Amino acid sequence: MALDKFFRRRRAQPTEGSDIPDLWSKCPACKENIYNKDLEAELYVCPKCAFHHRLSARRRVEVLLDQGTFMQQSGHVRPVDVLNFVDTETYPARLLRAQRKTGQPDAILTGTGELLGLKLTVAVMDFEFSGGSMGSVVGEEISRAAEGAAQAGLPLLLVAASGGARMQESALSLMQMAKTTVALERLSKAGLPYISLLTDPTTGGVTASFATIADVIVAEPGALIGFAGPRVIQQTIRQSLPEGFQRSEFLLEHGMVDLVTDRREQRAVLHSVLSILTRQPGAKPEQADPVQADLVQADTSHASELQASGGEQ
Ligand SMILES: [Zn+2]
Repeated sequence: MALDKFFRRRRAQPTEGSDIPDLWSKCPACKENIYNKDLEAELYVCPKCAFHHRLSARRRVEVLLDQGTFMQQSGHVRPVDVLNFVDTETYPARLLRAQRKTGQPDAILTGTGELLGLKLTVAVMDFEFSGGSMGSVVGEEISRAAEGAAQAGLPLLLVAASGGARMQESALSLMQMAKTTVALERLSKAGLPYISLLTDPTTGGVTASFATIADVIVAEPGALIGFAGPRVIQQTIRQSLPEGFQRSEFLLEHGMVDLVTDRREQRAVLHSVLSILTRQPGAKPEQADPVQADLVQADTSHASELQASGGEQ
């Protein structure tokens, strides 16, 4: 009997301590265990190695905008399976799973808000929803956000995170490339800035359309940004690719992006860029450090050229 009790108690122990692992996360880059509260305080950037963790659209909005200022506009358009697409499962079944996981009808969240007091329209892609794939709803919501911003006289900030066009919508998803580009041109014609923030990963038709036609293109450190994947390119050109190919820093060196900015400094930097482009007085960001101020300074000449030529699109 005494032995029985001894074993029963030992079996009970693991369930008592079951929420301990939730307090810590393992960094996929440096493999260090990070206390989740520290990770949150650092805006989900590893405090040991500065690896930028991916964020859901909701969390991105929390990280970027002033608290309590976000007013959601997206969510009224829902995806439709017009092609009756079936691969290993039906498209509606895939959609339902992604909708339950993210609480969103599709891979995009748009609305208005404030960034250090500056009013703007934001469109944020959600990689957690079907790999941030661009289907008809993503295209429609980005177009609405761009048109709404043009009407309201607000700048647009778009955060890209996508594996590319949505296969299940075939040619319909490819049409979104043209549609979003045309909608964004309205902002350009209205003399309003469009800023794109590229996060890990930004690939395929998203890179080939709205994500890279912005007035200023900012990227997060270490983000994979490209059209086709490195393996496909390597097989096509039959040459080995240089180190860091398709990463933010490589693209900055080669003129594909304007700035690579640590997430912890993005609010200050984006505020500076937007203030300059919208010609708002008092363009002094609260938390800008000298290095970032230099970066923004360097970008000013480019920005004013864009202003003079009425945008880049
Ligand atoms: Zn790390």
